[in-house]
Amino acid sequence: MPTSPAPADTGSRVIQPLYAEVLRRNPGETEFLQAVREVLESLGPVLTQRPELVDARIVERICEPERQLIFRVPWSDDRGRVHVNRGFRVEFNSSLGPYKGGLRFHPSVNLGIVKFLGFEQVFKNALTGMPIGGGKGGSDFDPKGRSDAEVMRFCQSFMTELHRHLGEYTDVPAGDIGVGGREIGYLFGQYKRITNRYESGVLTGKGVGWGGAQARTEATGYGCVMFTAEMLRARGTDLDGRRVAVSGSGNVALYAIEKAQQLGAKVLTCSDSGGYVVDEKGIDLPLLKEVKETSRGRVADYARLRGRDATYVPHDGNGGPGPWQVPCEVALPCATQNELDEGAAAVLVRNGVQAVVEGANMPTTPEAVRLFQDADVAFGPGKAANAGGVATSALEMQQNASRDSWTFAHTEDRLAEIMRHIHDSCHDTAERYGAPFNYVIGANIAGFELVANAMLAQGLI
Ligand code: NDP
Repeated sequence: MPTSPAPADTGSRVIQPLYAEVLRRNPGETEFLQAVREVLESLGPVLTQRPELVDARIVERICEPERQLIFRVPWSDDRGRVHVNRGFRVEFNSSLGPYKGGLRFHPSVNLGIVKFLGFEQVFKNALTGMPIGGGKGGSDFDPKGRSDAEVMRFCQSFMTELHRHLGEYTDVPAGDIGVGGREIGYLFGQYKRITNRYESGVLTGKGVGWGGAQARTEATGYGCVMFTAEMLRARGTDLDGRRVAVSGSGNVALYAIEKAQQLGAKVLTCSDSGGYVVDEKGIDLPLLKEVKETSRGRVADYARLRGRDATYVPHDGNGGPGPWQVPCEVALPCATQNELDEGAAAVLVRNGVQAVVEGANMPTTPEAVRLFQDADVAFGPGKAANAGGVATSALEMQQNASRDSWTFAHTEDRLAEIMRHIHDSCHDTAERYGAPFNYVIGANIAGFELVANAMLAQGLI
């Protein structure tokens, strides 16, 4: 394990062998190990102050999922050819509530990715202050280029197995990369058909007309920008007139762009796995939404339709800085894990970036995070900054349970309140542990303490 920021005391001494054991038991799960290491590096001071957590082996238990499901998903395409994918659901921790976390459909999905996402989700969900445990799932199925009928057959096959593990008091999935409103609709339909129950609270991200919450679609992106605004406010500034770079062009990116523009920022970039767009006049969001949400197109199509105002740059495949080479004051990585590395971070710092806030899960490599912290760039970790999505999912569950539906404005107000609460709890915890403005330490410790306290109270299970 690399050098820890914690002092060389009891807590830090406990953590070294603990991480070595996680490494031994989860070989090759690179992203999971990265996520665990990042959290453990923050925990030394807590374990020093609270030896009862060490005695109860809370950290060892938190690093081991409560249950891991892997299953076969057979389906046939429009030409009758049979395909076999792999499905996953990792039910990580239920000490605060039913397992809660999205499903990802992407060819890169494997057990290590799902475990990293599930592990992050445990702390993120705790930070929201809502009664939800942590889990995550998905499949190596690639919905890109598939017809609606193919996606439907895949979702039906996936849910035919998964349904037996779900329930509004047990495990409540939602969307993630490759799983949006269309997929949630097919998954919910199959759950209802198999169980003969209209159990609205079993999935979140549903359509607004059939149990979905207003503002859930917008929540992750909006929440990320609300968190950014709180971080800037704590430093005595705001987003008005700022140049902002965004990566991705999916659900999180689109609504991060929307909220940043509402707060007066100028958003210059967006991207997908093919390349990125620079639009010096500011991204034309209605056009981008039309391309992405209505036509299921690419950012290259946006650039073509936008004409001379936008430049499209294909990724060079050599891991260059991509959209991060565009000079900006705020960077919001909203695509995928490890998309912003040390090289890109150095370019951002050189160009005077003041805040980097993660809309995606773990998009910044550990080396890049260190570089930002050393350069005194405000850094917002995803488990705090993108928690608005799952928080609004919990609000959706609340509305489902009470057979109620709230207005957009009311839900957005609740989201803003939750993001402020998450910000303040990360900020204050970091200060309490002698690391002012270190939101990584603040988020990790604040989330950990909530989960650890519940685990202690619930006994050895
Ligand atoms: P979407 O599927 O809607 O969009 C993902 C975007 O990221 C697309 O633009 C996609 O491009 C791009 N992308 C995906 N993989 C890669 C890659 N390997 N290289 C470059 N670009 C890539 O997903 P979301 O917007 O929902 O999720 C984005 C991130 O936010 C993920 O990390 C997710 O875990 C996280 N998140 C999402 C939440 C939600 O509520 N949706 C909640 C909290 C976190 P392309 O189309 O070319 O693949």
